Amino acid sequence: MAERLISELLAEARSPLLSYEFFPPKDDAGMDQFKKVAEALKPTRPDFVTVTFGAGGSTRASTFQACQHLREAGHTPVMHHLTCVGSSRDELASIIDSVYDAGMRNIMALRGDPPKGETRFRPHPDGLGHANDLVRFIKKRHPDICCGVAGYPETHQEALSPESDILYLKDKVDMGGAFVTTQLFYDNRSFYDFTKRAREWGIRAPILPGLLPPISLKQLRRMASMCGAALPAALVRALEKAGDDPDKAQEVGINWTVNQIKDLLKHDVPGIHLYILNRSKAPLAPALKECFGR
Ligand code: FAD
Repeated sequence: MAERLISELLAEARSPLLSYEFFPPKDDAGMDQFKKVAEALKPTRPDFVTVTFGAGGSTRASTFQACQHLREAGHTPVMHHLTCVGSSRDELASIIDSVYDAGMRNIMALRGDPPKGETRFRPHPDGLGHANDLVRFIKKRHPDICCGVAGYPETHQEALSPESDILYLKDKVDMGGAFVTTQLFYDNRSFYDFTKRAREWGIRAPILPGLLPPISLKQLRRMASMCGAALPAALVRALEKAGDDPDKAQEVGINWTVNQIKDLLKHDVPGIHLYILNRSKAPLAPALKECFGR
């Protein structure tokens, strides 16, 4: 049976949606962890879950398998991520058709990052160069697929300017992107400013803030350098104070994210998207219950 469209859920929602992002496990131990974390989060009743798409050949099939596992475990709808990296149009078409034939109706359409060791994204000779091309490609093949697209509150690292980044985002939405999920950020002001600018440029699609509860100062710095997120001094100080104690660091990270969520909910966001990264988020569940009342 075909899954519900996330665009419909967003349109019908009377209260903000909650969604989680997983990555496809690489081996049996990873699969066990993935299943455990997905199961532990089930009582928080996410409205949808998503699975990222890796650049390497083997992880592609595992995105599909991980999506299928989540569906069988009762998580639905599931959004399958797809990137343009290293794939010809025929290969992309085959993945899109498999997703569609399995009954999935939601795809996060992305360009993807350059493969490890390369600094610039180079499209496959017979592939697609940008996410807007992928959205158009998907919608032409299956108009009833709901496409999500990525947005960057602190501007994509390769963008020529904040304005050009927003204009290309508008193009992704105009091509059929039904909603935007943002890159992670730790200071909500960047999200509010981004949303304001997006609206000024005529982007009407719902914009879901993406949040990653930090688990250590090391991880925080790594993630921030990967995506260019600004690090609030108060968060860095609190994680420094937690030192080498992983439980304390996790508590600091979760408190920070919960405060971000509470503030975002006060600003009428259409939902919250959490980057789970297949890690146990036990202390997060009660806080989410409090924030979302479920
Ligand atoms: P695009 O929208 O194509 O933008 C890339 C850059 O090109 C930007 O600087 C933009 O300003 C510019 N640009 C856009 N369109 C044009 C155009 N037509 N002409 C010229 N310039 C243009 N990566 C993965 O590998 N797998 C995943 O599953 C994954 N999931 C993600 C989920 C979310 C919610 C987010 C925010 C990111 C995710 N990423 C993932 C990372 C993403 O692939 C990278 O950030 C990538 O560098 C850009 O992807 P994009 O879809 O935003 O690209």
